Amino acid sequence: MGSKHLVSSDNKVFAFSREMKPALIIEDGDEVVFETLDCFSNQIKTTEDRLENLNWSEVNPATGPVFVNGAKPGDALVVEILDIEVANQGVVVAGKGLGPLGEKFEGFHTKIVKIKDGCAMFNDLQLPIDPMIGVIGVAPKEGSVNCGTPGPHGGNLDTRYIKKGAKVILPVFVEGGLLALGDLHALMGDGEVCGTGIEVAGKVTARIFLKKGLELRNPMVISEGNLFTLASEKTLDEAIKSAVSDMAEFVLRYANTSLEELTMLFSIVGNTEISQVVDPLVTARFRIPLDVLEKLGLSKDTIGY
Ligand code: CA
Ligand code: ZN
Repeated sequence: MGSKHLVSSDNKVFAFSREMKPALIIEDGDEVVFETLDCFSNQIKTTEDRLENLNWSEVNPATGPVFVNGAKPGDALVVEILDIEVANQGVVVAGKGLGPLGEKFEGFHTKIVKIKDGCAMFNDLQLPIDPMIGVIGVAPKEGSVNCGTPGPHGGNLDTRYIKKGAKVILPVFVEGGLLALGDLHALMGDGEVCGTGIEVAGKVTARIFLKKGLELRNPMVISEGNLFTLASEKTLDEAIKSAVSDMAEFVLRYANTSLEELTMLFSIVGNTEISQVVDPLVTARFRIPLDVLEKLGLSKDTIGY
């Protein structure tokens, strides 16, 4: 068993890049608690705190980064999410230009949502929460990617399966990987159509493993008995193509089957799904049940779960 560490929300980044200074250095298998601010850096406390008045340079903080000893380009980091705790209130925002209905609004509307006993109170609706991580990523291969944008390095994936019990598998592009995460949502639906989930501060406990030589083009997630490939592109068409191609490429590395057979199988047991349609790049995912993959010859060991 590895050591336990804490990274406070004072250690934050607003962009993923190889220039990030490590907040913590850990070993393969260590456990880390990340304290996280919400996506507005906790600036919205009441309905009077409006989006128009936000300090936008403080939006989308991620806590970290964590340097994993031994991680090299061409490896992968497996982030096992052991627990997510959320604060007792969150915020939802709708308004001009945000999501598919954004053109119907002139201004912005803010709603504070109290969270109590595992439920979020949306007016009189009592909604069981299902906490998830919006932003989780590593330093990209080159340049600097703001934390609001998803990509091969992860980032603002806004994927509701990134939750307690899940494993997020991120390609390593720079030494140490430089993992950071934040942007918790107490609850969010696929698409995130108003532009936010129930945005909330909180705490993530994760165990971080190194998977040597597992080269990936994009992040993958293992959650609820499925393997997901996640791809973020300018359009959903392109994102779906990338997610399905990534899955085919990954499975064919290990499975004794042909692309023809695999494509048929993908069509009958695979699900093409939408993570989010509101970030600068949109994210699609392709899902295959792990038991199908195991019958094709993939194992817990190959995938890293
Ligand atoms: Ca987000
Ligand atoms: Zn968010």
